[in-house]
Amino acid sequence: MIATLAARALTQPLAHAADRMLGPRGCLLTFHRAASPELWEKLPNRDFYLDIEFLDRFLAHLVAQKWDVVTIGEALRRSGSADDNSRYVNFSIDDCYRDTFELVAPVFRRHNVPLTLFVTTGIPDGTASLWLIGLEYTLFERDEILLDGKVLRLSTPEDRRATYHRIAAKWDGPEAPQHYAAFCAENRVDMNAMHWAHAITWEMLEALANDPLIEIGAHTVSHARISSLMPEEALAELEGARVRLNERLGINVEHFAFPYGRAGDCGPRDFALAREAGFLSAATTRKGLVRGGQDRFSLPRNTINGSHRSVAAMEMHLLGLTGIAARIAGRV
Ligand SMILES: [Zn+2]
Repeated sequence: MIATLAARALTQPLAHAADRMLGPRGCLLTFHRAASPELWEKLPNRDFYLDIEFLDRFLAHLVAQKWDVVTIGEALRRSGSADDNSRYVNFSIDDCYRDTFELVAPVFRRHNVPLTLFVTTGIPDGTASLWLIGLEYTLFERDEILLDGKVLRLSTPEDRRATYHRIAAKWDGPEAPQHYAAFCAENRVDMNAMHWAHAITWEMLEALANDPLIEIGAHTVSHARISSLMPEEALAELEGARVRLNERLGINVEHFAFPYGRAGDCGPRDFALAREAGFLSAATTRKGLVRGGQDRFSLPRNTINGSHRSVAAMEMHLLGLTGIAARIAGRV
């Protein structure tokens, strides 16, 4: 007890001094989907999902510890203010699926903290191929599938996970939607029904856009890797999503997040294109914290995936330690 108090007496002034020296710093966290713990255990691509009960515990922890949970707009304001010494955290969801509306937004509402959505407009428009999700749920729901004319039996969750990762790696690339379409035809999967079982709809987004806790940003039209496109195609993906969200939801969309978001997926040319497309900021998935003087078109964000299930491990992100570890390992 005394040792703890002594340690605190020593570390707390240091932490406060660090706050003053380092200025404001924010941790932007991002994820895709969420699932109940029971479903999470069985999903073939479970790293893509947060355990919703973990998210609930984590938000309760942040609120109890007096962290400021903020929008991207507020994070930018703080990073641009010289006399702000606050520490803050932002949560964003990329792509946006049904569970954003059904499962995740209600948890943020319950804790009364904001959530940012980076929407791929081809999802509610039904034009983006959800091939990874269609593959995942076909493997999840069936005991056997046909793959290139051969019967493949599926038994345990581990088996389904291994099969999912093997097929996803094989299909990955520009031809993935065609591989998926052929797979659906062979296995009599209704592609349209599969899409709408998982896609967020414009009606759901309208309801979310009316929620004062929800901030809506763009994440391209088709979930394209921006660095791989010619400048005019890239601009069409950036501007197209902004215009479409404005047209459907009547909102001014100010923030953008790059699909994939790592160093090879978006670079200086793309940061400039995001500005040209009319955004005020663009976020990557390069790890690290937002500090004073942060470039607004290459915001760092830390991905939280399904393997993050402990609040203690999340502290690593909040303190910026995962960013330091990634830089040491050369994984940025
Ligand atoms: Zn994405």
